[in-house]
Amino acid sequence: MGTSITGSAPRAADCSRCLALCCVVPAFAASADFAIDKPAHTPCPHLGADHACRIHDRLRERGFPGCVVFDCFGAGQQVVQVTFGGSARRTSAMFAALDVLRPLHEVLALLDEAARSSAGHDARDLRARVEEMVARDAEALADLDVGAVRREAGALFDELVAVAHAGAPGPDLRGVDLVGADLRRRDLRAARLRGALLVGADLRGVDLDRAELLGADLRGADVRGARLAGALLLTAPQLTAARGDATTTVPAHLDRPTHWFP
Ligand code: SF4
Repeated sequence: MGTSITGSAPRAADCSRCLALCCVVPAFAASADFAIDKPAHTPCPHLGADHACRIHDRLRERGFPGCVVFDCFGAGQQVVQVTFGGSARRTSAMFAALDVLRPLHEVLALLDEAARSSAGHDARDLRARVEEMVARDAEALADLDVGAVRREAGALFDELVAVAHAGAPGPDLRGVDLVGADLRRRDLRAARLRGALLVGADLRGVDLDRAELLGADLRGADVRGARLAGALLLTAPQLTAARGDATTTVPAHLDRPTHWFP
């Protein structure tokens, strides 16, 4: 699991302290990620009464790779253990709280990285404010403007990237469709890949030092031998969605996915 900051809201999911909210709250549309349609606020048919997934060890084989890569960034246990004080029963109020807390926890995870950068002071300030927000009660959470928080965080992330790329920017590929592209010969150092579609892209051996990967879709991207250690704004679920191996370098604050090739 990714690094958590002592005394802060959790950044890593602990499903043993949740009520499987992620298997109930989102809607699924049958696709390569989820084998079935599932309406929002409805338990997945594979969910057991003990809040455990009955096909947990076979998710990919059963057509649910989206469940493997999904990450609540600790928002699930925050809802159950903090907002609702350890309640043992799922409620619609919890579902609403998760919709607010999940994006805020993702922002917190990214602010942890920004706090270590040149934008550190402002990032620490925003992080402290978001930490205070996520600790509010359910009613107060409903009044939060998550979009405003995201915009403020986005400006900080822009600053982080601008400083990291100063004097030597790479290609600007923000939001570009690179699905299935062979990128092995592209120089992607300091590239801007925010929101890029890299599904199934071939990134074997590519140096992604200082490349910005905020929101890039790396599902099935082949990153064997790639250098991701210096990549910017990369999160744990993005790494989990990609296919790396023992020679792929990863940022120090993220764990190497256990299902990667040896
Ligand atoms: S397949 Fe398992 S992990 Fe995925 S939503 Fe259903 S119960 Fe949850």
